[in-house]
Amino acid sequence: MVKKKSLTRVQEEKKPEVYDVGLESSNSKTVIVSAVLETTGQIRFGDGTEVNLTITEKDLLPVLKKTDGGYKTDFIEKVVFAGSKRRGVDRRAIHLLRNRYISSYSACYIPNLCLKCPSCWLYGATAMGEADYNIKSRVLYAAAYSVEPSEIAVVSHSRNMVDEKTHATAGEAGIHEEEFIKGGIHFPTVTVLDHVVDWEIGMFAHALIENVNQNKYTAASGRQGGIKFADANGKKLIVVDISPEGIFPIETVKVSAEITGYDKVVQYYKDAINLDKIKEMFKTQGFGVQNKDKMIEVKKNDKLVWKIIANEDELSVVQVTNKKEKELMKRIFGDKAYGYLKEKAEEFRQFLQNFKGEKWALTHENILRSLGVEEKKVEAERGEEPEESS
Ligand SMILES: [Zn+2]
Repeated sequence: MVKKKSLTRVQEEKKPEVYDVGLESSNSKTVIVSAVLETTGQIRFGDGTEVNLTITEKDLLPVLKKTDGGYKTDFIEKVVFAGSKRRGVDRRAIHLLRNRYISSYSACYIPNLCLKCPSCWLYGATAMGEADYNIKSRVLYAAAYSVEPSEIAVVSHSRNMVDEKTHATAGEAGIHEEEFIKGGIHFPTVTVLDHVVDWEIGMFAHALIENVNQNKYTAASGRQGGIKFADANGKKLIVVDISPEGIFPIETVKVSAEITGYDKVVQYYKDAINLDKIKEMFKTQGFGVQNKDKMIEVKKNDKLVWKIIANEDELSVVQVTNKKEKELMKRIFGDKAYGYLKEKAEEFRQFLQNFKGEKWALTHENILRSLGVEEKKVEAERGEEPEESS
């Protein structure tokens, strides 16, 4: 009897269990994923719904050229891998996996997003129906330009539909020009995951890994070629920067538009993990730098500010204040970075496998409350049917 009583009390005192969501969580962090993607055959970007698009998206970009007397602005044309395209393909991959494990949100798809499910809370949604709130995406996809200029990157074919019997071209309609991106073309991508927890990092990681693996960023076509993570000396060109507070004393790898040689891009990525290069960078920024074993100390006016500690394909930036040390940022490089993404993708799959609808509903209500969406609205939502349309 006594035992039973104490049990009930424990239950009463226990707060309702909710999921850890980056928007609310003190465990959230900012993660920047830089990765070079390489085409492995003739491709077009997008997915099956955009196959009628026969022109490759290109931009004319201004670049600064050095001349004898100084500088002059030149222009260079490059192929665009739009952020919105990557985002759309990623989101579809996430919805597919979500629907495998959770049936209650299968009515949530592009463009009829539900504003309630785990992917809406990470990838964002705009209210279309009765909801009076929008969700801002915390996954920010930047457009990527080809390293190689479009005169090298793009090839044009005239497609000829041949009459099976006569072997002649089947009329005017049978011919049309198509543009493709060749194989061996490189796209340095950058994606920022803003205030996310591990399973949310995994949601993005699952989409990235599987969409590259299964060639889903490229449109279905007769000339279907694929895409892969570019590598150099057997290591994938991936850099993952992680910071609990969104502070990155070492800048993320970004390849500027004027770079047209893949060798330069490889160098950028290699330098990102090179302690000597990082030392040089801090020096030019006016810091004092001192080498120790596998570590550098960064000082301003003789005061120790940061320690940069290097480990096998890993860097750690530690803030030093009043003899207290705090890790501000971690950088992971190459296959190790890929391993990190793979591990997070697995965490997301486990999140889905163990998903509890009630617990998520509470999580959703909690977020709405803390965002200031009225109590009444939350109460009203509780009585709603999960399926809004058929
Ligand atoms: Zn949704």
